[in-house]
Amino acid sequence: MIKVLKFGGTSVGSAKNMKMVADIVTSEKATVTVLSAMSGTTDSLVRISSLSTQANKRSEIAETIDMLREKYSTCINQLLDSHKGEALAKMESVLELISNESDNFREYTSERLILSQGELLTSAIFAMYMQEIGRKAVLLNAPDFMRTDEDQKVDTALLEKKINELVDDKETFYITQGFICTNHRGEIDNLGRGGSDYSAALIGGALNADEVQVWTDIDGMHNNDPRVVEGTYPIHKMSFDEAAELAYFGAKILHPATIQPCKDKDIPVFLKNTMDPAAEGTKISDEDDETRIFHAVAAKDNITVIRIYSTRMLMAYGFLRRVFEVFEKYRTPIDMITTAEVSVSLTVDNTSHLDEIEKELASFGKIEVEQDNTIVCLVGNLEHSQKGLAATIMNSIHGIPLKMISYGASHRSIAMLVDTKYKKEMMQSMNDKLFGKENHA
Ligand code: ASP
Ligand code: MG
Repeated sequence: MIKVLKFGGTSVGSAKNMKMVADIVTSEKATVTVLSAMSGTTDSLVRISSLSTQANKRSEIAETIDMLREKYSTCINQLLDSHKGEALAKMESVLELISNESDNFREYTSERLILSQGELLTSAIFAMYMQEIGRKAVLLNAPDFMRTDEDQKVDTALLEKKINELVDDKETFYITQGFICTNHRGEIDNLGRGGSDYSAALIGGALNADEVQVWTDIDGMHNNDPRVVEGTYPIHKMSFDEAAELAYFGAKILHPATIQPCKDKDIPVFLKNTMDPAAEGTKISDEDDETRIFHAVAAKDNITVIRIYSTRMLMAYGFLRRVFEVFEKYRTPIDMITTAEVSVSLTVDNTSHLDEIEKELASFGKIEVEQDNTIVCLVGNLEHSQKGLAATIMNSIHGIPLKMISYGASHRSIAMLVDTKYKKEMMQSMNDKLFGKENHA
């Protein structure tokens, strides 16, 4: 049985938690263990990188490095014994590298190098601990097998070849870093924030694993965002498509790209809680939960809506293509779209080229742009043929003004756009009316 286990920042956030992770890794007989950096590390490294580009920030950078030294040395001192000296030396060399890169900051290259250090140090410490407690543990350097091309796509063929060469002993616990990779220029890079889940899924796919387990600090995917809404509950079973949709539309527990490599090879993904390993968690597989209509709600903030009003659209063909070409030119994905006869509304979350896009779209007609919106996405068995479904959903959010509604292609989800100020009220109201006790007994 090949298992790939991934642990998030909180799971490895202290010596105490790392010990729990070691227990889980051992009892699960994990083939490969993929680790994030200790919680808060990547944020600190992002801060160091951004301070490095500003004048007169030396003391703030030094303070942040000291804070990391404090965090990691505390963990090392509490966790390790015979490997303590080696781990502290590793930590100092990492901190020195960060400080040097910050002093001689090269745009992009230094930032990526600095950001990779959290995972590298955390995984090194954990591997030493595993060895210290008598496990046969080997630390693998993810940038050796995780490589991306110019479009930041992972070379899965290379990954498959390399990882299968490296992982060849059933008795060994292989430990590696999530998130980091080597880019097409041969420099260290990363898969984007929260990308460790994706690393684990790719490794699981490449090894043709029997399962991938993603360990965090909550007991699986909930039916609604527990940080926003009261009375949520964990979902035990969910389909790949649903999980992908929820992750994409804001469920923070899973990186949105995670599902695809596992879906492709039909590898179930288990979401588990490091703080409560006995809790059932969530199983994501090709099995759907047919017993309920409404499965879950997720929300994605910082959405910008762009409306294009154009009488030239009236009965014309090729209009949408020209609109889409503008977004394509600026590599900006569109999330939602609705059209009427003389207007199109679309949403984006990447606004880095918004000004240019707006300028080009202006040639089509009148343009309106509104920021601070949220997409609230409801997933479930929302069959087109079901009577009264739309009415039930609309009743559950009675009184909330909607800016856009998108329901159609998948009959698995309905996405609604609202001003972010209504998000909490809307999600709570949906939770109470669509997911009340009687709906999930
Ligand atoms: N440490 C990285 C981050 O904070 C990657 C991850 O945790 O998945 O974004
Ligand atoms: Mg994460």
